[in-house]
Amino acid sequence: MSRIIRGVDQNFVLTLMEIARLLRRVRITGGQPDTPPELRGWSFDKPPVRPPAHLGIALSDFAYGYCPTGRNLYLKYVLRERPQPAKPLLEGSALHAALFKALEDFRRFVYAGVPMSGPGEAVPEEFKPKAEALYRYVAARLLGEYHYVLASGLAWGRDSAAFYAAPIHTQVAVDGAPLGLGYVVADGVALGAVVEFKFGPSQNVDAALAGYAMAIEAEYGMPIDYGIHVQIWVDGSVEYRAQAYHLGEGPRLKFLEARDEAVDVVASARDPGTPPQCPKTCPFYHICRS
Ligand code: SF4
Repeated sequence: MSRIIRGVDQNFVLTLMEIARLLRRVRITGGQPDTPPELRGWSFDKPPVRPPAHLGIALSDFAYGYCPTGRNLYLKYVLRERPQPAKPLLEGSALHAALFKALEDFRRFVYAGVPMSGPGEAVPEEFKPKAEALYRYVAARLLGEYHYVLASGLAWGRDSAAFYAAPIHTQVAVDGAPLGLGYVVADGVALGAVVEFKFGPSQNVDAALAGYAMAIEAEYGMPIDYGIHVQIWVDGSVEYRAQAYHLGEGPRLKFLEARDEAVDVVASARDPGTPPQCPKTCPFYHICRS
């Protein structure tokens, strides 16, 4: 078994210095154990990375393990039922969109001088206060860091100042077919690490991060050894908690096991049944628990 190495930073934003510090802490405290080559994403032509079948399943449908029996997969891919996202999921989507827009608008400000204007009209009315609070917070921190690195001479130009302030490239999409998945969209990639933002309860994040990392490895043939999970709370104020993981053997095997179980549920077309309890936020709650 490999180790999961953690670092926690209560004051994480998104800047280069903060991400670098987080990753450095993981390396120092946990070393850099080698990842077996057969568990790299580019080893998709042989087991265990090679999928039992290529069914195009979405990574988010199984990697976080929100349905203990995998019935969500049976409903979605076998019976073709439509999910009904509950309010927390819709709010999470709205906040993701606000965060991505803030990061994109920051670059527009840097390169074209366009002021950062807010999360936009597309945000549903009920989520606007939180989306605006998040957008304003991210904008203030990024603009503050940008002006600081320029004024202090740390950055020699706009491009490097933008990199210091916002090094995360967002919504990186790759073809998940080598792993038997559909398109895989990572929230972000920075300094060779994959980044996921969460606004609600989350579990198995190490396995999910390993899945994103392996999909990127399969597409680009470059190693992704670390993952960062950023938990964000927005409630008037904004708080972050970031945790870095070394994506070695343990998380990769955990991801592959979940992937193989998901493929088995869909390929067998057998109803795996319901668990004793289900999260009310499950988008299939209206079917299983009605
Ligand atoms: S309601 Fe329960 S059994 Fe049905 S998909 Fe959701 S978690 Fe799984």
